[in-house]
Amino acid sequence: MKISQKLYVRVALSIAIVALLVSLATSLFSYISGLEERKTTNYTLVKQLAQTMQKTAAISAYLVDLELGEEISNGLLSNDLVKGVSLSGDAQMLITQGDINNVSEQVSIQLMHPFIPDTKIGMLTLYPDDIYIQQQAQKASEKEVLLMMVHSIIIIFFVSLAVNQQLSRPLQKLTDDFAKIDPSMPQTMQMLSVKKRGKDEVSRLIKGINSLMRALQQTIRNERELRTKTQELEARFRLIFEQASAGICLVDEQNMITTYNPAFKEHFVENGKTEMSSLNFPTLLNNSDKLQSLLQVIREKDNVEQLSLDIECTIGTQTKWLHCLFAKLTEQRDTVRENQETLIEVILHDVTERAEKEFQTRFEADHDALTYLLNRRAGERALNNALSECISKDHQLVLMMIDLDKFKPVNDNLGHEAGDKVLIEVAQRIKSRFNLDTDICIRWGGDEFVIAREIKLSEQESALKQAQLMLQDIELPIQVNDDTSCNVSACIGFVVGPNDGEALHELMVNADNTMYQAKENGRGQVAIFNKV
Ligand code: GH3
Ligand code: MG
Repeated sequence: MKISQKLYVRVALSIAIVALLVSLATSLFSYISGLEERKTTNYTLVKQLAQTMQKTAAISAYLVDLELGEEISNGLLSNDLVKGVSLSGDAQMLITQGDINNVSEQVSIQLMHPFIPDTKIGMLTLYPDDIYIQQQAQKASEKEVLLMMVHSIIIIFFVSLAVNQQLSRPLQKLTDDFAKIDPSMPQTMQMLSVKKRGKDEVSRLIKGINSLMRALQQTIRNERELRTKTQELEARFRLIFEQASAGICLVDEQNMITTYNPAFKEHFVENGKTEMSSLNFPTLLNNSDKLQSLLQVIREKDNVEQLSLDIECTIGTQTKWLHCLFAKLTEQRDTVRENQETLIEVILHDVTERAEKEFQTRFEADHDALTYLLNRRAGERALNNALSECISKDHQLVLMMIDLDKFKPVNDNLGHEAGDKVLIEVAQRIKSRFNLDTDICIRWGGDEFVIAREIKLSEQESALKQAQLMLQDIELPIQVNDDTSCNVSACIGFVVGPNDGEALHELMVNADNTMYQAKENGRGQVAIFNKV
């Protein structure tokens, strides 16, 4: 620290400058006024000197005693204040001694007759030594000014000393002690020493700092404990996050994945690769458009906090099913993200095995084990739905009831197994002529099949044509063994709902009757329902 920056030096310097200015002003004033005063005093002294010699001078003038007169003059001249004397008497007497020129103020006293009162007999004039008087006055004033300066300097010195002792040093010590404190190392936060009964400002400041430090130490201790706990907690959560078997990720408003755990990554990294193909979440899964709108719904709807569903995804050549749980990170769950975009947390598990089993179970429940066409129960449900939809849309539902002709003999002649093969092949031919996604293909039971299709009125013809082509398909030879093939035909009862039956039951009965009509008409043909 530069010396000029020290407090006591600055205080002392300030006092010194002020004291110097004041003492200079006072000195100037006292010099000027003292000078005048001393000059007046000296002139008064000269006057008094003249008065003391007045009587003797009057006698010398009365006696016209030149010798006495000269003695008086010499006596007066011996005084340093007087540089010239003039003694004159009415009786032709004039004694002049010393220098009587260049005098600013001469002192003249009338000499009176010793015996006749009020009678003037001469004049005694003293010529003061102006230069001497000036010098004397100057010397005295200079001495006074000098004394005043010394006085000021002594005061400045002692004031500086006092400031240094009482203020600067304690403050310096406080500053030094303070510099040693490092809040990151609480052991350095020693209490600052303070005078036991000190009540001055510095002592009060130190006491204040000490109590502040005590509070600070406590706060730091609490903060540290809290931080340790938070770190432990964070480490535990991180461990859970990192080692969770479930894939976890956060998706932002642009559907981008901002954070994910290793299990999540594992689900989406193709064999032989190290990174995911994209960080855009919906594109990682099949049917990304649907998923994108689903995420938007979660974000926008206040009442939707969580949603879960199984989603299919294809990674390379592998297809799997993931059970995804979507949860909105609300402000309550994530207060620090207040006013920021809504993040969606996704937790997913691989449920391929379960999904496949479920799919299998559902498939088995709805399909015929031999032909894999819809079974009667599921078929009936589908037909009911299709019929009500057609009615609501003012469409038609073409329904074909198919029964194989003389199937029993196939069983009887070639064996039940061969009969099964025939049924399987017929189902295969139905599948290849109709579309399983849009048409309803049912194994109604035994050798009976039902096919239904939603059509517009204008499409009735083409549906009938398809029924006929279907028959041709069925009639093609069927290989039942390596060396045996057989031929079967079928009859089709062709009805169109809701014209031929508003209720499914009615439609089915009509289809069945129409089909029997075809049988009666000679088999291997399509019969169209004829309302009578
Ligand atoms: P029609 O021309 O009058 O229809 O005579 P059909 O011989 O085909 O006689 P029907 O339709 O009344 O009989 C169907 C036969 O189909 C009866 C049954 O033995 C046979 N059948 C039913 N279910 C199965 C099956 O799952 N496998 C085999 N192989 N045969 C079956
Ligand atoms: Mg039959």
